[in-house]
Amino acid sequence: MPGATDYEFPWTGVSGCCQFVTSGHRRSVRSALATTVPVVPRAGREYPRTLDEFNNWFRSDEDCRAFLERLRWPDGFRCSCGGGKAWRVRRNRLRCSECERETSVIAGTLFEGARLPLTSWFQAAWFMTNQKLGSSALGLQRALGLSRYDTVWTILHKYRRAMVRPDREPLAGVVEVDESYVGGASRGSTGRGSLGKTIVAIAVEARPEGACGRARLARIADCSAPVLTDFVGERCEPLTEIHTDGWAGYLWLGDAGFIHVPTTAMTSPDPAHVLMPRVHRVSALLKRWLLGTHQGGVSERQLDFYLDEFVFRFNRRGSGSRGLLFYRLLEQAVRVDPTPGFAIVRGRS
Ligand SMILES: [Zn+2]
Repeated sequence: MPGATDYEFPWTGVSGCCQFVTSGHRRSVRSALATTVPVVPRAGREYPRTLDEFNNWFRSDEDCRAFLERLRWPDGFRCSCGGGKAWRVRRNRLRCSECERETSVIAGTLFEGARLPLTSWFQAAWFMTNQKLGSSALGLQRALGLSRYDTVWTILHKYRRAMVRPDREPLAGVVEVDESYVGGASRGSTGRGSLGKTIVAIAVEARPEGACGRARLARIADCSAPVLTDFVGERCEPLTEIHTDGWAGYLWLGDAGFIHVPTTAMTSPDPAHVLMPRVHRVSALLKRWLLGTHQGGVSERQLDFYLDEFVFRFNRRGSGSRGLLFYRLLEQAVRVDPTPGFAIVRGRS
């Protein structure tokens, strides 16, 4: 097509989901591949399989932006006004042909206001998802050769904000629930929770033969009935069978619409870790991960986001492909609202 700026998507070998057509001074961006975006992303097509492939696909910020456009607008550009057509006004700006507002693929996403090149953000996401146990900021700083520790720390934390899908499905079936105590005396810690430690509530789906399904973790203020009932209520479907120990804080679950199966030491000769092996396994993994990958250096204010990362990894532990994790992380990154740097540092009290 004479005069057309044809955009080649390296992962499909097909001209991209946005078609750039020269029209006077302006170029139109239209949906062209709406029907070709598969539901299940394919290795080597939608996401890179190897580091070599990764390096080939994402040589420049333009490559990264094109990838993000496809993730954000799989059915073609969509403006907040509802318009479905845009002009590319500069390399990275789009102008809606309906409301004439300018936007970019990173506006309103986790990448908004990013100072580092997108290639660095992509490398960080690749590194983060390719390490089985994740990465500390120091490890990532070394791997990317970046000079500023705080920049790397912020990138990791921004990605953690994208690790939980707001629309994720609640747990169902049979679920084990228990609390775990993590951390200890850390600088700046308010020492909330038992013995100066922080309480983390854990819910994990029970699969046959002691296997775990999906897990949900959250920092909780205390082990009272209102708090524990809320924890379960926000994460499990009604009528889920909830297995707990005999703690009184779980006694409201029956009235809250769950099938509550408490087991007390009185009614069973087995210790708790035998009665609820899955939730204890998750608790042990969490503690090992916080101490190992993060060397115990997680503050209480940031713990929620580490829990999100832990759950992201845990719930995808069966995924044979690290590249798919990379894809999922970026897919969520273009769906979450931006978080300013100061809010990242502040964490959640
Ligand atoms: Zn618009």
